[in-house]
Amino acid sequence: MTIDLVIVGAGCAGLGAAAAARDAGLHALVLEAGPRIGGRAHTTMLGDAAFDRGAAWLHAAARNPLVPIARAAGEPLTDSDQYRARRVYIGDRLVTAAERAAYDASWERFERLTAAAPSDTSVADALAPLRGDPWTATVESWEAAQIAAADPRLLSVRDLHCNQLEDGNLEFESGLGNFVERHLGPRDIRLNTPVTRIAWDRPGGGVAVATPSGTVAARACIVTVSTGVLASGAIAFDPPLPAHTRDAIANLPMGLLTKIALRATTADRFGLPDYCSLSRRVEQPFAANASFIAWPMARDHIVGFLGGHTAWSFAHDPGAAGAFAREQLRLLVGAEAERSLSTAAVTDWGTNPLFLGAYAYASPGHADARATLAKPLGRIVFAGEAACTDGLAGTAGGAWNSGLAAIGLIDR
Ligand SMILES: Cc1cc2nc3c(=O)[nH]c(=O)nc-3n(C[C@H](O)[C@H](O)[C@H](O)COP(=O)(O)OP(=O)(O)OC[C@H]3O[C@@H](n4cnc5c(N)ncnc54)[C@H](O)[C@@H]3O)c2cc1C
Repeated sequence: MTIDLVIVGAGCAGLGAAAAARDAGLHALVLEAGPRIGGRAHTTMLGDAAFDRGAAWLHAAARNPLVPIARAAGEPLTDSDQYRARRVYIGDRLVTAAERAAYDASWERFERLTAAAPSDTSVADALAPLRGDPWTATVESWEAAQIAAADPRLLSVRDLHCNQLEDGNLEFESGLGNFVERHLGPRDIRLNTPVTRIAWDRPGGGVAVATPSGTVAARACIVTVSTGVLASGAIAFDPPLPAHTRDAIANLPMGLLTKIALRATTADRFGLPDYCSLSRRVEQPFAANASFIAWPMARDHIVGFLGGHTAWSFAHDPGAAGAFAREQLRLLVGAEAERSLSTAAVTDWGTNPLFLGAYAYASPGHADARATLAKPLGRIVFAGEAACTDGLAGTAGGAWNSGLAAIGLIDR
């Protein structure tokens, strides 16, 4: 039997494609290598509290496609920007008002300079005129390593503007991953079914999608696995993909953001209000660092974030990642905090073979790689956060949109 469509991967992009296929009256089968849906949207519990190991916020709420779905499903959403307190430190002391103003001014210079970059250099190169500013390395680290999950020396300055995470960052009390599992499940799916080969240009038309438990014939195929998985060769393409698609994959490497949950073992909150974000001035460009959010949604844990090259340097050693985060936190809030917190979780997105990173970024000179990856190849179309071109690249909402768009691009 030949079905209309195979969708490879049950993350937000695959689930968006499955929803659009259902609305278009197509018979679509989702093949997912892992034991669950959601992909990089995944919630686990720390005691009674939800911990989003991957996506947590619905960014750019006013245009995020998952916001109306969540509201229609009756999911309570909290705008964490409304009550987030921000603490910025130099060494182990809080900044003064004047230092804070200098930091804010540095952000404005960064925005102006990167928005007007005359060529698609790396973020680090684009910032050369600002190197004398004591806050440049901090802003750079935040925007590249923490937000784009990428080393500023490897990240295209134009790609910075492909994910515009403007105001309105909504969070789910029970976790974004749980919302996806509860409300976005597809009609027809096989879990624990890794795709190993896709024959996509067969003489009679259609595709043949091979898995260890058999081959599925379909008229077309949408592939939503990460560019890390595509580059690893875990899925063979027959015939090989055209050069422009292979180049796009190579120029969309995976960044890494590692989350570390530090759980309180006492009632002490160390004077930190709920949802307090903590970060430190980065004194040397590209120095290893971490940022934190204490007690998000009044939960009993602090989340540490390691991004870009800092995250990759600990990717194979979760124990060392946890120790680094605790040491960084000790510098900010004191030794008592370190003693009263236990490392409850360290995420493994960089080494998990189903992801091989957190989300993709474009290399310098290749800001157009996302659009190239999204170009349909007839019977096969690539979707996912890396192929997102609507300004929500790298996000769950952008992945969902790219899955919806892919349905209109397949050659039926
Ligand atoms: C730490 C972290 C924090 C983040 N924070 C946010 C945030 O706050 N807000 C936000 O919007 N986004 C955030 N993101 C990004 C967001 O999670 C992703 O952009 C989005 O979920 C990606 O969806 P996708 O469908 O493109 O890919 P995926 O979710 O990776 O889905 C692809 C699926 O393919 C499966 N697969 C892999 N190989 C095969 C194979 N051979 N055969 C079949 N299936 C296969 C995988 O198991 C996976 O389920 C974060 C990500 C991380 C890692």
